[in-house]
Amino acid sequence: MIPYGRQDIDANDRQAVLDVLSSDFLTQGPVVPRFEAAVATQCGAAHAVAVNSATSALHVACMALGLGPGDHLWTVPNTFVASANVGIYCGAEVDFVDIDPDTYLMCPEALAAKLAAAETAGRLPKVVIPVHFAGQSCDMAAIGALARRYGFRVIEDASHAIGARHAGRPVGDCAHSDICVFSFHPVKIITTAEGGLATTNDPALAQAMELARSHGVTRDPALMDGPSDGGWYYQMVTLGYNYRMTEMQAALGLSQMSRLDEFVARRNALAARYDQVLDGMALVRPLQRPDNLSAYHLYPIRVADRGRVFAELRAAGIGVNVHYIPVHTQPFWRARGFAPGNFPNAESYYAQAISIPLYSGLTEADQDQVVAALRAAL
Ligand SMILES: *Cc1c(COP(=O)(O)O)cnc(C)c1O
Repeated sequence: MIPYGRQDIDANDRQAVLDVLSSDFLTQGPVVPRFEAAVATQCGAAHAVAVNSATSALHVACMALGLGPGDHLWTVPNTFVASANVGIYCGAEVDFVDIDPDTYLMCPEALAAKLAAAETAGRLPKVVIPVHFAGQSCDMAAIGALARRYGFRVIEDASHAIGARHAGRPVGDCAHSDICVFSFHPVKIITTAEGGLATTNDPALAQAMELARSHGVTRDPALMDGPSDGGWYYQMVTLGYNYRMTEMQAALGLSQMSRLDEFVARRNALAARYDQVLDGMALVRPLQRPDNLSAYHLYPIRVADRGRVFAELRAAGIGVNVHYIPVHTQPFWRARGFAPGNFPNAESYYAQAISIPLYSGLTEADQDQVVAALRAAL
């Protein structure tokens, strides 16, 4: 089976993990800060906070922004369930903004219209989470302008998009957002097995996320209520969780970061080859906005008769997948009042969507096999 995505681990990656296993620290050592510095540098962001998953990163980001009961969080239905769940973790109400039918990204016009209505109703969101679906950035200038006008905060869900660029700048620089979150699950662009990270340019947000990832506990006298009792002393100054990344994970991530440009270039080359060989076939290829360099986490196509094409590809040994079942149609969200028909663009995209294999280790021969199976199914 050719999978739809796969990690790419080399000898240096393996050695980096082994080196940590022979060192003094398996957690809370020197490698996590080095990994954070590498990602901050790559992104051109002032701060990076590593955690044990992108879901945790989204959660600590929402906590740092003060999301709580009575607040509203908006994201898109065309995402993994985690982008919406974090609103519930914080006790907030969650709603969705439909996607653009061509890019499958949060539609800035739909967001503007929903904001105007929410202002009238007195239900403006506190946090909006646009998702850089498949690896390309949303229109962040438009979303950032709406954030300034309506006073909400922006968390970019860039789980698919480390190494991507937008308007000539790296995704993660938070030029139009408060916080940007990455995932390092093995199917994503680089991996730490499980892992995530949040970038920000705001030192107060970075500090709040660091507290939230480690029990709300600090050893920094500057953050304490009153004087320190001595060298052993720590204080719990807020409620936090244990969302820490291990040293093994960070070592793998740091080693993988040295290959990020290579991974993104390889994914773009394979995507360009798909663009070429799929041209003229009865399918819709993914559209890349002209001011974007996608990290190409996914290569989503649209076909009529998706169910049959999907089954035939799987039967032919092609590990296709579907991204995403619209979140608001999940039973959990239906029980909260959402229903099919609420977000028609996400739903009609989903009805035709298939993600075909794309990862840095995919060979051209593998790719030809995918295309042949697709041609036969169509
Ligand atoms: C993978 C993913 C997540 C969750 O990432 P984890 O690291 O597995 O927690 C969140 N949002 C999107 C869009 C994702 O693709």
